[in-house]
Amino acid sequence: MSSANSLTKLRSELKSVPNLDLIESTTDRKRFSRDFFDYSPVLQVQLKDCLADLVVRPYTVDAVLAVARNCKRFDIPLTLRGSGTGNYGQSVPLEAGVVMLMNALNQVRQFDPFTNFVTVEPGCLLRDLNKHLFSQGRQLRLVPSTWRSASVGGFFSGGSGGIGSVRWGFLRDPGHLIGLEIVTLQDHPEKLQLDANSAEALNHAYGTNGIITSLTISTAKFVDWQQVIIDTQSFSKAIDLLLVCANSAIEVNLCSLIESQISQQLPNWFGSSKSSHRIYILVAPDGLSTLERLAKSAGASFQHIGTENDNSGNGFREITWNHTTLHMRAVDPEWTYLQLLLPRPELSVIEKLKDKWGDDLLWHLEAVRQQGVQRLAALPLVKWKGRNYLDELIEDCRKLDIIIFNPHVITVEDGGLGVIDSNQVEAKHRYDPSGILNPGKLRGWYA
Ligand SMILES: Cc1cc2nc3c(=O)[nH]c(=O)nc-3n(C[C@H](O)[C@H](O)[C@H](O)COP(=O)(O)OP(=O)(O)OC[C@H]3O[C@@H](n4cnc5c(N)ncnc54)[C@H](O)[C@@H]3O)c2cc1C
Repeated sequence: MSSANSLTKLRSELKSVPNLDLIESTTDRKRFSRDFFDYSPVLQVQLKDCLADLVVRPYTVDAVLAVARNCKRFDIPLTLRGSGTGNYGQSVPLEAGVVMLMNALNQVRQFDPFTNFVTVEPGCLLRDLNKHLFSQGRQLRLVPSTWRSASVGGFFSGGSGGIGSVRWGFLRDPGHLIGLEIVTLQDHPEKLQLDANSAEALNHAYGTNGIITSLTISTAKFVDWQQVIIDTQSFSKAIDLLLVCANSAIEVNLCSLIESQISQQLPNWFGSSKSSHRIYILVAPDGLSTLERLAKSAGASFQHIGTENDNSGNGFREITWNHTTLHMRAVDPEWTYLQLLLPRPELSVIEKLKDKWGDDLLWHLEAVRQQGVQRLAALPLVKWKGRNYLDELIEDCRKLDIIIFNPHVITVEDGGLGVIDSNQVEAKHRYDPSGILNPGKLRGWYA
């Protein structure tokens, strides 16, 4: 915790910094000290009382530099915040200090018509960036289901994948992040340009090892995605179809399977699923006839809902990935969730878990590309019956060789593969040697 004296000095220095808002009301400090960690009953208890001493909003990179210099000088923790939609408490200030809102640094700086790389400031919303790219005949490769409200800096620092992962894998795969501009917390904080190699250590590091002030990322060609729903009564057939669709020679941007007990409770935007398991697919126009043929030959029903309408706010993007959890929690807040990568054959591990956990574990699968291979990830809904119950389920998953990305923990490593990434820790030693940035979130720093 910072001393009252240092905080007073910090406040007085920051008051004279141009292009910087100081936000001090208790209501605002509370608001900006939270994210969506309440999807986890474990994190709810752990993080509910965390509170920033001061919130700042810079409008220029010079103002970011001034905040960095002063936090360093007075040894005050500094936690960055995009839109605050993370689920792991990524932007929650564990040791109080300053929360810096990055949303006013939101300009698209450059689009390179040869490589189609875009350089953008971190606070730009993914929705706005995508709109900008449309005008160039391009679109984002990967977006989270929160893409309307989430920022690009927050996505690369705290997210992992989402719509597009069936084709483009995950954010840490080489090729997505091409370069960064950052501000450091060294003795004399400065602005640096990092190439793709050096930028990798800041990708998905929760803002623990540098302040990102711009990102250069790759984009995909624009496709007029078509929304297709396939309904089937048999869960095993639904999994087969999901895999066949994801593996066919067609372009898909989303391939999600929602078990009937969930899909009956989701918003009825596309007509009732009755008692069917439902597959949501975003497909390029030339893949429609293939999907129809595959669905019909499996005895499933096929519906072409039409072209995706990005302005609607109730498309497939807002019902899949972690939005499925959002809708289920709106029905019953006792639902929480897990994030898994399933071993093959997927059906046999799911059936083993179904046998033991029954209706306390409902299945939501997402087809993804993992290191170049089509796999099935899962975000199953889990009925909250206490910590021991959750731990037992996690243990059962591990015994079945399921990889768990645990959403009930606060460190970068534990929410990922559980291993320390020495590059991330080295980057923290280099760019934040006093450990001021988002303390408590990079386990490797304390090892
Ligand atoms: C309903 C729901 C659905 C979701 N679906 C998905 C999904 O499909 N895929 C997915 O990956 N995530 C998902 N998420 C989590 C989250 O919405 C995304 O990861 C989102 O991209 C985070 O962006 P943000 O702007 O809100 O970042 P924040 O939550 O504000 O920040 C995330 C992390 O980035 C750091 N950070 C922010 N700005 C900077 C910066 N300039 N420099 C360095 N570090 C910085 C923060 O300190 C924090 O550690 C979901 C969350 C919810 C609630």
